[in-house]
Amino acid sequence: MDNCLFCKIIKKEIAAEIVLDTQDCLAFKDINPVAPHHYLVIPKTHFASITEIDAKISAALIEAIQELAKNFELKDFRTVLNTGVKAGQTVFHVHAHVIAGRRLEWPPG
Ligand code: 5GP
Ligand code: ZN
Repeated sequence: MDNCLFCKIIKKEIAAEIVLDTQDCLAFKDINPVAPHHYLVIPKTHFASITEIDAKISAALIEAIQELAKNFELKDFRTVLNTGVKAGQTVFHVHAHVIAGRRLEWPPG
């Protein structure tokens, strides 16, 4: 997708602090972190949201999250998939937030 911020990060047209690069997924630091660890895990193929991804991409995304958690030795962390404007989605390239390193309240606001 030409006009997608995260596709531009994949194509290296926009810089990001990449922390994991797998065959199907990329993870990088969120530019505006809400916790000491705050990463975004995205598929390398453009899909607007989780409602559009197939089983292969879903598995690749979860595997990337598992690998990221292992690499950073995250034991207690939160994975968030904001879907839709009213749920706080601002970038329409599916991304899982991985957040850790502080107390995480439940339920969230
Ligand atoms: P959403 O609100 O769609 O769930 O999350 C989008 C996330 O992307 C936000 O947490 C925001 O801080 C992050 N973000 C927005 N623009 C950039 C950028 O240019 N680089 C990086 N690394 N993160 C970004
Ligand atoms: Zn995209």
